Amino acid sequence: MKLDRRRFLKLSAASVGAVAFAGRAAALRAPWAVPRKWYAGEVRTVFSYCENCFWKCGIAVKVEGGRVRKIDGQKQNPKSRGRLCPRGQAGVAQLYDPDRLKRPLIRIEGSKRGEGKYREASWEEALDYVAERMLQIKERYGPEAVAWFGHGSGDSWFVEYLPAAWGSPNAAKPAVSICTAPRETASQWTFGRPVGGHEPVDWTESRYIVLIGHHIGEDTHNTQLQDFAEALRRGAKLVVVDPRFSTAASKAHRWLPIKPGTDLALLLAWIHV
Ligand code: SF4
Repeated sequence: MKLDRRRFLKLSAASVGAVAFAGRAAALRAPWAVPRKWYAGEVRTVFSYCENCFWKCGIAVKVEGGRVRKIDGQKQNPKSRGRLCPRGQAGVAQLYDPDRLKRPLIRIEGSKRGEGKYREASWEEALDYVAERMLQIKERYGPEAVAWFGHGSGDSWFVEYLPAAWGSPNAAKPAVSICTAPRETASQWTFGRPVGGHEPVDWTESRYIVLIGHHIGEDTHNTQLQDFAEALRRGAKLVVVDPRFSTAASKAHRWLPIKPGTDLALLLAWIHV
């Protein structure tokens, strides 16, 4: 019998499914298959928030024996609604990662940049070290010779207050400048208010969604993605304008891979119609 690719894939999927099902059925029948408790002692729930991105989902952390065992979304929290993205769930692994950076590291004297040879230092030593170098630069070249770049929710201190106190105007948030800042500024000037994190639009009741250069689904902004998925589940039509076949484009009813830089022409054409 001639086996074409489509039929081969279909058959393979069916046999893998059958094996998996048979294995699962056997496991369910086996007396030792009763799920074992993953914990030995008392499980405490500690409420906090996830800091793996700026969405800041509320989390319910399961702690047993002084160790975090699991991280769930906090049900009452509007940023997570009881769910987390994979990055948030991986917070346990991040917490106990042997390579997690917990203390300052200073490059070993005599080693070259890029060699990756460091020694651990106390915070006091590290801060003194940085302060000393900064003062040397200030003395030699002036305060503006130090430039500051920040990103994320904690960057205000680093990019706004510290350079101002230090006397350098050279502070920037490059990632924000090419991302949300133009949108927020345009919205402020046009509508009198910024758009904000989770756009105040009726996602779930939307019948027709147009995304222009918006890679929703790849940045896992938790509740935004939940609403987006819910809108699609309810039958909303989706148009994605993106030269790249993004995750959202893969869900779209129409994917418009226009040439970069022609989005204004597209919008003007739509307005004209
Ligand atoms: S979206 Fe994901 S990474 Fe960001 S705060 Fe929520 S769970 Fe954490």
